[in-house]
Amino acid sequence: MRILIIEDETRIADFLQRGLRAEGYFCLVANDGETGLSLAMEGDFDLILLDLMLPGIHGHEVCQHLRMEQVNTPLIILSAMDSLDDVITGLRMGADDYLTKPFSFEELLARIEAVMRRSSAISGQDQKLKAGPLLFDRKSLRFFADGTEIKLTAKELAIIELLMSNPGTLFSRERILNNVWGLDMDPLTNVVDVYIGKLRKKVDGGSDSSMIETVRGMGYRLNLEEKV
Ligand code: CA
Repeated sequence: MRILIIEDETRIADFLQRGLRAEGYFCLVANDGETGLSLAMEGDFDLILLDLMLPGIHGHEVCQHLRMEQVNTPLIILSAMDSLDDVITGLRMGADDYLTKPFSFEELLARIEAVMRRSSAISGQDQKLKAGPLLFDRKSLRFFADGTEIKLTAKELAIIELLMSNPGTLFSRERILNNVWGLDMDPLTNVVDVYIGKLRKKVDGGSDSSMIETVRGMGYRLNLEEKV
């Protein structure tokens, strides 16, 4: 499961990231409202944790903008602003829940699970992501091809999950980079190609007819047509 953390205080962002990663969540941190909004707009996250007092755009605005643009990713506001007005405003802007700082990590985990349960009950989405012969179990973070388990690293899992979330859709290198490594990566780096190469070797032996198709000069997509 992929979580976007929009939080400008490095200490809190690090604490959240470390804790959530230890629980098996894939996390990406945005340190200001604008970066957070642009990552969230791509819609490739399962959950957003949003601070309110952010440099640039205020958290309320980030939330409102996302909902206006029909980005309905479950969202929990984390804020020290604990007045009733702020809670009500946050929820009216489309947040799914609200947690005031300081909070215990256990409470955050419980809230995340509750919000995700509600959201998957609505969307009917289960923990298993399937695409052709590929299966990714989001809960146990195990990946299978043709029923055989394949051990992937955290970054490889994040890439394949992204591609599997929308088979046939073209994902540009930049989009993969932003989603898996974050916005501060050099867009000229070839790290995406390197990881795609590793993934292909593991997933289908790196053959020319790999399911992970290169669209020259554009990016990559999962092509299941000849495989199913
Ligand atoms: Ca803040």
